Formats: sequence, structure tokens, C-alpha cells
Amino acid sequence: MSVMEMSHRGKEFTSIIEKAESDLRTLLNIPSDYTVLFLQGGASTQFSAIPLNLCNSDDAVDYLVTGSWGGKAAKEAVKYAKASTIWSGKSDNYTRIPNFDGSEFEQNLHARYLHICANETIYGVEFKNYPVPANPNGFLVADMSSNFCSKPVDVTKFGLIYAGAQKNVGPSGVTIVIVRNDLIGNAQKITPIMLDYKIHADNKSLYNTPPCYGIYMCGLVFEDLLNQGGLVEVEKKNKAKAQVLYDAIDESNGFYKCPVEKSVRSLMNVPFTLEKSELEAEFIKEAAKEKMVALKGHRSVGGMRASIYNAMPLAGVQKLVAFMKEFQAKHA
Ligand code: PMP
Repeated sequence: MSVMEMSHRGKEFTSIIEKAESDLRTLLNIPSDYTVLFLQGGASTQFSAIPLNLCNSDDAVDYLVTGSWGGKAAKEAVKYAKASTIWSGKSDNYTRIPNFDGSEFEQNLHARYLHICANETIYGVEFKNYPVPANPNGFLVADMSSNFCSKPVDVTKFGLIYAGAQKNVGPSGVTIVIVRNDLIGNAQKITPIMLDYKIHADNKSLYNTPPCYGIYMCGLVFEDLLNQGGLVEVEKKNKAKAQVLYDAIDESNGFYKCPVEKSVRSLMNVPFTLEKSELEAEFIKEAAKEKMVALKGHRSVGGMRASIYNAMPLAGVQKLVAFMKEFQAKHA
């Protein structure tokens, strides 16, 4: 019987989901006072579930907006809480992260939580360290959809971490939420039952039929990441991959350019433009001939974007860099 045929309440599937959770706990060193949930609806559903579960409608909550995903999260939160965007990188075209020393943004001292998007997938901007909520009773919430399990993270710095599985750990359809236990159980009255963390926590993510096959796949990936030596080793590989690509861009004498401030460049998503922007369509076409696809930048940014998630081997990045050098030599 394949996983697709199993009852989600049978002992076979129970052992699959329990092993997946246990391996994820080992990978991220998740303490026992945090609950791991395997949910559906993508990270976008969490944009609403987070304010609904974690605050009252008249609570203040703060959002640092370093790209379009953070912007979408903030926009949704306005419906369910007094949400403020306390900093936005929009005027710089989302190429940087603000300083945390108080010189660039001011937190609401009563904010229930401070929300960040740990890695902005479209713009390639990644937090390398994290701001501390100004409210001593507040907590940090992070969207880690596009850098989940790409490096070690100190979970205790966060009240809640969430991520769609589809970038680094499995197929789309699984959304992982890691939430501190004391934050569960206070959902607003209007919260749909399917968005209530307490319902899912009490039912061990089996309140209704979960995406069983997706969870099984995530479990295989967690096992593989552990076999690779855990997230310390995974991060080393990701750093080496990103370095090769950023070096190629920075050493191209301006033929290629990455707009993101060096200190916050993403290890996962590498956006770059061509000095001669009229060559970009040809770059995409020629790359496709060499079987390198999905390099076109997001429609809101243009240029190119190489997403080099955990599953991309160093050899893949090296092949891209060799192509970039050849293309430059042809067109410089
Ligand atoms: N947040 C980030 C950082 C993302 O990259 C994405 C998807 N690309 C989302 C949220 C939305 O995720 P989903 O499609 O799972 O709703």
C-alpha cells in the first residue's frame, strides 16, 4: 500500500508524521515548549492565521517590510489587528535590511509581535541576524518560506516560524508552523476552525485529512538533511554555492549586477541584471538551450534570478557561472 492509499489515522501514517516531526525537531533543535504543525493553505494562509491566533483585534502588531511577501503579510494583518508597517524598503526597491539600532525604525512598545520575512524570495534580501521586539512581552514572528532548513536557526528567538514546504523541504501543499506553546489557544472568536492553531495542536495536525503524501516527502527530505550532517553542513554548502555566483557577478566588471546590499544578500535567491538590458531576453534563451531554465526574474523586478535552494548542487551553479562567462565574452 502506498502512502497515498493509507488512512491518515492508521498506525502506518502515524509513524510517518511522527518521524517527520521528530527529524525536523532534531534538525532545527526545536525545544519541547514549541509545537510543530503540518498545515495546508500555503504561507499565504498564515498571513491571516497569525494575527487571528496571536492577538486581539485591538492589539498593535509591527511589520518590517523588506519585500513584497512581507508587504502582503502586513496588508492581511490590518484586517485582524492594529497592524503597522514600521519600515519599508520599497523606496530602495527592496535592496536592503534596516539597522536595528533605532535609527531607521521605531517599534510600537505595546506591539504584540514583530513580523519579518526572513528571506524575501523575489528581491533576494535575507536577514543575517534578527531584531529584538521592543515590548518585553512581545515576540518575533518570521516567514521562513524561502530559507527554511537552509541553515541553523535559533528557534528560541521566535514566538512563531512559518514556511511553505515547497522551496527547500518538500512539495507544495504542506505548510509548517513552529509555535511557542504559550501562544496557542487564544484565537479570536471569528477564527475559522481550520486556521485555529489549538485545533491542529490538540489533534497533532490530524484534525482533518492532512496532505499525507507531501508530509511523507518532507520526512524523506528531513532524513536526507540529517544524513548530510544537519543544517550546519547544509549551510556550508549553500554558502559555497552562493559565493560562486555572487563572485561571478561582482567580478564581471559591471556586465552583471546584483542590486542587493552585500551584507544581506540571500543564499537562496540571487537576482542579477545585465548592464546591457537589451541582452536579457537572449541570455534567457541561450541559457535554456543549455538546459538552464527558470532564470527569468520575477515580473515585478525584471532581470534574472537564480534560485539555488538546498536541492541545487554546486555543479549546477558552476554550470551557470561558466555559461555567464561565455555569454559575457561573446557580448562584452
Ligand atoms: N512568503 C514567501 C517568502 C514566499 O516566497 C512565498 C511563495 N513564494 C510565500 C510567502 C507564499 O507562499 P504560498 O504560495 O505557500 O502561499
